Amino acid sequence: MIKKNDEIILDICDYTAEGSGVGKYEGMAIFVPLTAVGDKARVKILKVKKTYAYGKLIELENESKNRQENNCSVFSRCGGCAFRHITYNAEKQLKENKVYETVKRIGGVDMKPQPILFDKECRYRNKAQYPVSQDGKSGFYAFHSHRIIPCDDCLLQPEIFSQLTAVAQKWIENNNISIYDEEKHQGLLRHIYIRRGEQTGEIMFTAVINGKSLPNSDELIDAVKSVAGDNLKSVMLNINTADTNVILGNENICLYGDEYISDILCGVKVRLSALSFYQVNTVMAEKLYKKAADYALPTGKTVLDLYCGAGTIGLSMAKDSKQIIGVEIIPQAVKDAEFNAKENGINNARFICADAAEAAKQLAKENLTPDVVIVDPPRKGCSESLIETIAKKFTPERVVYVSCDPATLARDIKVFENFGYKLKEYTPADLFPRTSHVETVALLEKHQA
Ligand code: SAH
Repeated sequence: MIKKNDEIILDICDYTAEGSGVGKYEGMAIFVPLTAVGDKARVKILKVKKTYAYGKLIELENESKNRQENNCSVFSRCGGCAFRHITYNAEKQLKENKVYETVKRIGGVDMKPQPILFDKECRYRNKAQYPVSQDGKSGFYAFHSHRIIPCDDCLLQPEIFSQLTAVAQKWIENNNISIYDEEKHQGLLRHIYIRRGEQTGEIMFTAVINGKSLPNSDELIDAVKSVAGDNLKSVMLNINTADTNVILGNENICLYGDEYISDILCGVKVRLSALSFYQVNTVMAEKLYKKAADYALPTGKTVLDLYCGAGTIGLSMAKDSKQIIGVEIIPQAVKDAEFNAKENGINNARFICADAAEAAKQLAKENLTPDVVIVDPPRKGCSESLIETIAKKFTPERVVYVSCDPATLARDIKVFENFGYKLKEYTPADLFPRTSHVETVALLEKHQA
């Protein structure tokens, strides 16, 4: 049995979700941060549990060919990136493989995916929510914790976000702004939240506060403006006085400009308020939606867009299709979807605010027979009852499944297969390079008996 402080030689053969390397030793899984698949590593054991242990990399006896120099000073402490120490090519391969293995193991379908969709590997985000440390520095939470790791320039965010947090930091210092302490539920400033329209460049700067007003907010507006110039369209206060770790409260106060910014996604102008859901990687969202449209073939068809958020997937297909019906549970998102339809002169789309499974049952009762059903559920995937309604009542030619979790996608593919639908093709999409997340879009077709 290995014990604490032992040194062992370990072949790294896998990764955890956080990007730690994993090796097997005497039947135990050993987790070692900053190692890569293919490394032969000298590892010091730090902590031993029943079936697994944690170790620390001491030295590489043999280096994986996938390694690259990590270029972020907080990598492996910050909870954001998992893979800065391996090449992006290796990461894409890993993600493609993960989706394939999951669809095979859980979904019971042995089919190779289409090549993973990708774009730039850094500075791809259009939104950041920075917690602020007690000494006024913005950063990110560590893995599985609310410990703040200060970070001056996150390589996943546009450079202008770092310039904005820098001037905000100065403003905090100059004005002695008190910082929120989660444990004591005291202090004013909780988060700095920045959004930018990828295509428009428009910027929204939001201070999330435990209170009703911000001292010297004019100075903050000037500071933010000195960086963002005319692209600054909105400075907001988001009021969050709740004793929870939910980042945003429900109340917003506009300090400067409008309460929203806009962006353009697949040719559709989208309005974003502080609370609107929007894919954080615009360029990749476009690639994902285009692939979804390739699978949906919406021309002249009735398309049911379940879990539609602000309606972006359905609206991107509206001009080709006969009609779009979107379903979404959050009222504000439905309002955004309706607004976006109107703003773009789309009048063949309507939106229902309801639980997707309930709405589907109701629409089936009304004898709706969509030609195409798109689902884009949260991580937990679809319920069996929703899949049954789709497969048995709607019986569409095609189901397009957009997923942010390969495991629940695979589980649901199996349920669809049991109800007579077959997986035709699927494509992973890297919306979150350098992190462990991967999206997938899958096409299922009605099985012709
Ligand atoms: N299709 C959208 C949003 C996808 S995120 C886009 O691409 O932007 C998943 C969405 O499902 C969220 O907007 C969430 O609010 C919504 N949602 C979560 N549970 C739901 C449910 N039970 N019924 C309907 N919508 C739900």
